[in-house]
Amino acid sequence: MKRLLLLIAFLPFLAVAQTSGNEDWKKVYRSFPTKINNLVHTRLDAKFDYEKSYLNGKVWITLEPHFYATDSLQLDAKGMNIYQVAIVKAGKNIPLKYAYDSLFLNIQLDKTYKKGERYTVYIDYTAKPNEFKANGSAAITDAKGLYFINPKGEEKDKPTQIWTQGETEATSVWVPTIDRTNQKTTQLFNLTVPAKYVSLSNGKLIAQKTNTDGTRTDTWSMDQPHAPYLFFMGVGDYAVVKDTYKGKEVNYYVEKAYEKVARRIFGDTPEMMAFFSKKLGVEYPWVKYSQMVARDYVSGAMENTTATLHQESAQQDARELTDGNGWESTIAHELFHQWFGDLVTAESWSNLTVNESFADYSQLLWLEHKYGKDEAMFENFNQMRGYIGSGQQSRDLVRFYYKDKEDMFDAVSYNKGGRILHMLRNLTGDDAFFASLNKYLTTNRFGTGSGHKLRLAFEEVTGKDWNWFFNQWYFGNGHPRIDISYQYNAETQLASVIIKQIQAGDKVFKLPFAIDIWHGNEKKRQLVWMENKADTFNFTVKSKPDQINVDADKILLVDKKDNKTLAEFIHQFKHAGNYLDRREAVAFAGNNTKDPAAVQLLVDALSDPYFRIRSLAITNLGKVKPDDAIIAKIEAIAKKESRKMVKAEAISYLANLKNQSYKSFFKEATRDSSYTVAGAALEALTELDSVEALQITKELSKEPAKGRLNEAISNVLITYGDEKSFKVVSESYEKMPLSFPKVQMSATYAAFAAKLTNMDEFKKAVDAIVEFRDLIPASAKAQTDPVINGALKELAQKKESAGATEMAAYVKSKLPADKK
Ligand SMILES: [Zn+2]
Repeated sequence: MKRLLLLIAFLPFLAVAQTSGNEDWKKVYRSFPTKINNLVHTRLDAKFDYEKSYLNGKVWITLEPHFYATDSLQLDAKGMNIYQVAIVKAGKNIPLKYAYDSLFLNIQLDKTYKKGERYTVYIDYTAKPNEFKANGSAAITDAKGLYFINPKGEEKDKPTQIWTQGETEATSVWVPTIDRTNQKTTQLFNLTVPAKYVSLSNGKLIAQKTNTDGTRTDTWSMDQPHAPYLFFMGVGDYAVVKDTYKGKEVNYYVEKAYEKVARRIFGDTPEMMAFFSKKLGVEYPWVKYSQMVARDYVSGAMENTTATLHQESAQQDARELTDGNGWESTIAHELFHQWFGDLVTAESWSNLTVNESFADYSQLLWLEHKYGKDEAMFENFNQMRGYIGSGQQSRDLVRFYYKDKEDMFDAVSYNKGGRILHMLRNLTGDDAFFASLNKYLTTNRFGTGSGHKLRLAFEEVTGKDWNWFFNQWYFGNGHPRIDISYQYNAETQLASVIIKQIQAGDKVFKLPFAIDIWHGNEKKRQLVWMENKADTFNFTVKSKPDQINVDADKILLVDKKDNKTLAEFIHQFKHAGNYLDRREAVAFAGNNTKDPAAVQLLVDALSDPYFRIRSLAITNLGKVKPDDAIIAKIEAIAKKESRKMVKAEAISYLANLKNQSYKSFFKEATRDSSYTVAGAALEALTELDSVEALQITKELSKEPAKGRLNEAISNVLITYGDEKSFKVVSESYEKMPLSFPKVQMSATYAAFAAKLTNMDEFKKAVDAIVEFRDLIPASAKAQTDPVINGALKELAQKKESAGATEMAAYVKSKLPADKK
């Protein structure tokens, strides 16, 4: 699962959150769940009651004792009505005694069963996901398991959909099961759905039967075992765009408006399947692969076996796609889970990283394959930054003590885990790394994985002991902070690199890495191991090196201070070659713009082959007093650059010059095919002429707009428009997907609401903000609630001081007690 979408964007804010409260959890060891009975097969007949948002189910669960004989069975079954529990004998249902407390169904079996002796229980029940209350608290949005979207068709412009989200343990809200990651079962699902809709579930669609009551029963068969949290059902009015990989169906379920662009969004999937299969030496293990897009799906995306679910942000229109496919990494991530997660499943939430670190790392593997090393290194750097800014450094990667299993879905399990894999790949070498992954997958296929099982696979393949690495990175916490300095002694012709580990505490990291010593175009590589709080590495050289590049492959998970001179960074920029080498140099130059050589480096970087370096150079040149040569270069980029992100950056640069001669260019660029460029151009135009910008905004707002253009339109209308803009502003706010920009937009929208005098419109605005606030997953609320509630509080104060007490009271009624 990719629950980190929101979180990553918020990491800079994060350092504060979550330390208070009851600490009893620190004493609770989270083992893997004891296996008494094992699931074998699950047959479900499901009928959906759209009126009540219920599922009426009959389930036949075949099980057998794991090892010890047993006469009882405990199933997870959350918030259901249970009508009958029986054992199936010779085709007959013989009622069994049971006790049910709305969480667990404890069944007394008809006799004692031994290992190897299979039995089938039958349960007739109704699932009521909207009424299930976890821990007796208020109704929850995070763990309903089964979601009915607009079930009665009451919301205009919103499709009617059903979808499920099992992870972590919410499948048992809609079907009784042993809802644990270390259980695996085959399945046969008969889904009775309105005949006008399509359905999707795990495995293969093997039969369809039209019923006389306007419904159809679809039979989905999953012959390979997988864990209950990966069960999936999806129903709705979808276009099914068909693709194929080695004779297997690869389908994209999108809303009909997106049928034409579905291939531009998901069309790389077969190539990804081929690439991952080849890298891993394990062919894509399942019978088909489908991807579905859902409304109101807050979890990002979920790797249900053979049936991945994506949130609405996946559905990008043609103009969004001109900036590149913003969902590509997520598509790779969920696909890689089909091996790491679905074929081999983390044995417990404590070991979640053996699912998520691999899915995270697959993003880098795919980007490297498709777009080259720079893009892969950007991914690595960006994910590392996400972890370092997370404030979660005290958590072990594999963690046997945690407060809530949802807490495992953090920047440690994902980002840090992925970076650790990157170091492991560099240390072992590509061949050994992928051979070890193959070993891990083939040894544990259709079973479970853990940090230890991963270590054993690497040890078996490489013939080396990896305990030091796993103890340091998997079963320990933190990361090194290093300070690098350099010395040269002309007499002894000795170049020295002094590296200090300056992280707090006593922990010393063992760090192997490469050091490149440069003279002109020539480099000499040395492999070193840092093992102490401070180490000095000495190299005999013919003359003073032009530059020494520590961690020359840029693989270390570190927070570092590199005390290079500008001249050394310029050499690094020109010679060392990889993305991070150049990025570090550009960033250093950007902080030293008083030096003409630094400015020259930034100007050189405008011609870098990699677009993100060009973009970063423009941003940094914003700090330099502009001269004609620089302006001419950036003008050329604004007009000719094919990478839309860089073009937009160049337009924003020109906007700051406040030069009226750009007006017609900006005006024209508001019509660019890219929302990013059009948005940047509208912002730029606003700087020059807010009256004309408002006029153009009103025109633009009549057409679809997303992303930066949508934000720019809202901002202009909110800042320069009046109450009459309400309709456009409210619509553009409401159509924004669950995302970081929407949190910021909530504050802007709240500022706009201060202008509203019509009570109905005012309430509508407040309600929309509150609805969005409450939709955000609990894991991200700690970061988002302060922003949104702060904006609402300010709105209440403004209304109060304007004498609009009724409006002020309405906003206050939506705020938590301590924020009023
Ligand atoms: Zn994931």
